[in-house]
Amino acid sequence: MLSKLVHNVNGKSTKPSLLIVGGGIVGLTIAREANLSKSFSSITVLEKENKFGMHASTRNSGVIHAGFYYTPDSQRGRFCSKANELMRNYCIKNSIPVNRCGKVVVTRNSNDEQSLEELYKRGKANGSDISLFTKEKLSKYEPLAYTYERFLWSPNTWSASPKYLLSKIIQELKEAKVKLINSTKVSSVEPHKVITEKGERFFFDILINSSGGYSLSLAKECGLYPPYKLLPFKGIYLKSNKAIKTFKSHIYPVPNISQPFLGIHTTITYDNFLKLGPTAIPVLSPENYSLFEGLDLSITPEIFSLQISCLLSNSFNFRDLALKESKYLIKSNIIKEAQKLTYYKLNDISFDWYSPGIRPQLFNTDKRCLEMDFVFLRKESTFHVLNSISPAWTCSFKTAQYVLDEVLKSIRT
Ligand SMILES: Cc1cc2nc3c(=O)[nH]c(=O)nc-3n(C[C@H](O)[C@H](O)[C@H](O)COP(=O)(O)OP(=O)(O)OC[C@H]3O[C@@H](n4cnc5c(N)ncnc54)[C@H](O)[C@@H]3O)c2cc1C
Repeated sequence: MLSKLVHNVNGKSTKPSLLIVGGGIVGLTIAREANLSKSFSSITVLEKENKFGMHASTRNSGVIHAGFYYTPDSQRGRFCSKANELMRNYCIKNSIPVNRCGKVVVTRNSNDEQSLEELYKRGKANGSDISLFTKEKLSKYEPLAYTYERFLWSPNTWSASPKYLLSKIIQELKEAKVKLINSTKVSSVEPHKVITEKGERFFFDILINSSGGYSLSLAKECGLYPPYKLLPFKGIYLKSNKAIKTFKSHIYPVPNISQPFLGIHTTITYDNFLKLGPTAIPVLSPENYSLFEGLDLSITPEIFSLQISCLLSNSFNFRDLALKESKYLIKSNIIKEAQKLTYYKLNDISFDWYSPGIRPQLFNTDKRCLEMDFVFLRKESTFHVLNSISPAWTCSFKTAQYVLDEVLKSIRT
């Protein structure tokens, strides 16, 4: 069907137009890849905010993940190790500030040791550069970390600046004459046309939906009804109020591997500040950064009712998670949790709250659990990126290649 989009006019084929909704890292890297492919007559990105990348794409940990958390049969598992290389290379080539610190994953008890081994197996299967060592070696990689028996060492888990990265991609797109249109919120979709909140119309041959926390709503606008509901979780951080050169590597605990969150950890930013967090606190919209901020009548009531249902049923241990995570609204509890990872007295460092980010996590209504993988859907000439949870930032260049391949295949066949 899509092949009809490559029209034949006077013996010459004309290329289809591409419209991307959502100007976070996912939408912008797709626009970049589309431009490199030279397969489109025009590429337009619509972003509802007055700047690009104001949500998850600049409100994250800035950690270039190495790919050992995810099962090898998942897109996250398949993408992340290659994506890590693509992202590191892009940063080096474009002088985006990075911190090549690496990361240790440490244990607290014998149960953690089993999960640590599982992460090691996943990492190896996914092609990550990863080593499993006994604690005697820990001082070589992070003398300030504590572990029970063994630890994982990941040399390719770096930090980069999400803001510098985004600015560089935007500069590249502007130079390539990709149309970047902000302050334009898509409110409905009709065949080959979107209509914005202000009543403007944008026509497309191909639409890509990369609207983060609103991707599910937009997919529904396009006539898709996958078995998902949005269940967003907020990550809050503490950030040291000055640069600290004391830590050598990120220190992460072994997470609960049945959930997509990594547990409170210490992160060294690209410019050597220390961050503690992020949490996973249930919130009422993908932009509900503070109590009443970002509440949205079109989605908040459904999220609230899902939270109540998960609280009552304790599906995927939601009740326990919500109770545990809510205590991190108190600064000292975040410090106390992070203190379990290190000998360094964190109370000696002065921390401030840092801008929170929200994961647009999907809940699978058939399986009654959190969706653990990226979700890619297609309906006719519309393509959708859903559940762009961590490590979607790391994976963005790789995801863009994947989505573009799918689009180009559909045009050619
Ligand atoms: C606390 C936290 C920490 C994280 N840490 C890491 C990490 O260290 N490493 C990593 O790899 N990943 C991390 N992630 C995940 C990563 O940040 C996100 O997965 C990624 O940024 C998602 O990008 P996106 O472009 O899909 O979403 P977004 O950045 O949210 O972009 C979507 C855009 O769509 C726009 N939009 C929405 N609706 C419309 C509409 N109707 N019309 C027009 N525009 C619209 C929004 O305004 C937004 O700008 C973290 C996430 C969080 C929340």
